[in-house]
Amino acid sequence: MSPKPEPFRAVGRKAGGAPRHRPSRTDAEAAVRTLIEWAGDDPEREGLKGTPGRVVRSFEEFFRGYDTDPVELLQRTFEETDGYDEMVVLKDIRFESHCEHHMAPIIGKAHVAYLPRNRVVGISKLARLVEVYARRLQIQEKMTVQIASTLGEVLQPKGVGVVIEAAHQCMTTRGVHKPGVSMVTSHMLGAFRDDPSTRREFLALVGAPGSSAIGNV
Ligand SMILES: [Zn+2]
Repeated sequence: MSPKPEPFRAVGRKAGGAPRHRPSRTDAEAAVRTLIEWAGDDPEREGLKGTPGRVVRSFEEFFRGYDTDPVELLQRTFEETDGYDEMVVLKDIRFESHCEHHMAPIIGKAHVAYLPRNRVVGISKLARLVEVYARRLQIQEKMTVQIASTLGEVLQPKGVGVVIEAAHQCMTTRGVHKPGVSMVTSHMLGAFRDDPSTRREFLALVGAPGSSAIGNV
């Protein structure tokens, strides 16, 4: 008899740390004004007057992932499979995120797959899962693991595979200035980790660059 598989567990579903005092919108706008002045411009000049308000509204959009618990998001909608037991793959999920080191954009796509045991989830939920983690301050490696482990925890599938390819503007527009470089990360659980043919099938389906060389983060 084969041993009962260890259940998968989500990591990093909460933003981390104790809930802390959230500054007001006025505080946030004042901070943007400070940055404009620090950069060497005049926040009172005509073209910049509305900028702090616009930046703060952009932040609400860029970072709204903090308002959603990804486990609850998936839990609301899973269904029984009625015997479907082949790989489910959603590829080329475009996302925009921000790196936690420079708050510069990370733009890329995620490929998410799992091998159902007895639950499936609507494909729009897979895309929403990517978005909830993307719309936070991130590093690509962490985001890859978070997506895979959350899917693992909620669906308890036979395996999960996540590949992310992304360009980091902190590398292309500052620092080393290397446009055209993209980073590829992957995280595999269960059958995707242990069974080379499952892993190969997934990587071939998503056409992952350098498939054979992809490591596990
Ligand atoms: Zn960065």
